[in-house]
Amino acid sequence: MGSEGASIQKELDPLGNAGRQFDEAASRLNLPAGLREVIKHPRRATIVSLPVQMDDGSFRVFTGYRVQHSIVRGPAKGGIRYHPDVTLEEVSALAAWMTWKCAVVNIPFGGGKGGVVCDPDKLSRGELERLTRRYAADLSDLFGPESDVPAPDVNTNAQIMAWIVDTYSMHERRTEYAVVTGKPLEVGGSAGRREATGRGLLFCVRGACAHLGIPLAGARVAVQGFGNVGSVSADLLARDGARIVAASDVTGAIEAPEGLDVPALIRWVEDHRGVLGFPGARPLSPPIVEHDCDILIPAALETQITRENADRIRAKIVAEGANGPTSPDADRILERRNVFVIPDILCNSGGVTVSYFEWVQNRMGYYWPEDEVNSRLERIMTQAFADVLAKSLEHRVNMRVAAFMVAIERVVKVIMLRGVYA
Ligand code: GLU
Repeated sequence: MGSEGASIQKELDPLGNAGRQFDEAASRLNLPAGLREVIKHPRRATIVSLPVQMDDGSFRVFTGYRVQHSIVRGPAKGGIRYHPDVTLEEVSALAAWMTWKCAVVNIPFGGGKGGVVCDPDKLSRGELERLTRRYAADLSDLFGPESDVPAPDVNTNAQIMAWIVDTYSMHERRTEYAVVTGKPLEVGGSAGRREATGRGLLFCVRGACAHLGIPLAGARVAVQGFGNVGSVSADLLARDGARIVAASDVTGAIEAPEGLDVPALIRWVEDHRGVLGFPGARPLSPPIVEHDCDILIPAALETQITRENADRIRAKIVAEGANGPTSPDADRILERRNVFVIPDILCNSGGVTVSYFEWVQNRMGYYWPEDEVNSRLERIMTQAFADVLAKSLEHRVNMRVAAFMVAIERVVKVIMLRGVYA
């Protein structure tokens, strides 16, 4: 690989990017010598081989990961991702982002992440269940309400969480709902959890629009990734009067300059497994992140906005629904071009915030109505947005650096109070 090839490869490396983001913010804080290294590295990383019997009677071995980046502020918290491209490095980056995310919204969790290398579209329901149960069983010593609490992430959902609850509970010989969040309502889930990441994003976008003096009503929005985060964000923003002018997923991209009918698109995707072919919309061939819009929501995978395309982003606001969609090089370009980026660790933290509410409700055995969940979420998100914006204005840094500074300070404060055990 030539040096240009190597440097593009490097830009696409989420772990390297998470490290650069951390270093940039940490270098602005006056941290005790050596402490940066203490909090940068994951606390524990586990790799498991998961043998599963397939429907045709054959056996396959899948690889699973769980990384606990930090348990300083509370149990490790973070989702489990099922994807063919999952690697230990990716899961480690995602675990670190969870630490900073939980600290930005000031909830009592550390950061963790899990992943299984698989393509869930190619597995039957039975195979998916056996794989999930084997993963949960093999990691049941790590998991627990007080130690490590998984949740859904890319390609995992409430049903998968229900299988994890059941597997863990069978091993413990008692029902333990608080071991995972993002569960079905009937299995100890919280009202409002499924919509929480999109709703949190809405509160952040409202904050950004107010700060920049851009009216949300009538604003044109493009959504990359029409999964749980992208579709709920689009729906809620449209209810606030925004126009969703383009949307994409793995099947392709569509545009409708007059605005997509989001509830109808959500029903279409349920029936047709993708946005493509949605009546009334035109197929879109140029990359959706370069689409002419006011607000761009990358809600798919990592490193979608890079130094290759950052100059062509036309949005005024980038609201990061995904984890790690923008590389550090792209951040510099966007900052120079005055694009206001609401960073992932703030923008998509509504999900883990309601996961915290779910965990609290499980431990109380008392469940809140959805309006209570939503208003508590709004309070936390509004405060987090205000904390990060204040830091950004005070230190004249972009919102990502500011969010990392807020988060790192909170983690360091706890380390200094607890001390490092000899
Ligand atoms: N997977 C989501 C995230 O990346 C939610 C994590 C959680 O609720 O623990 O924030």
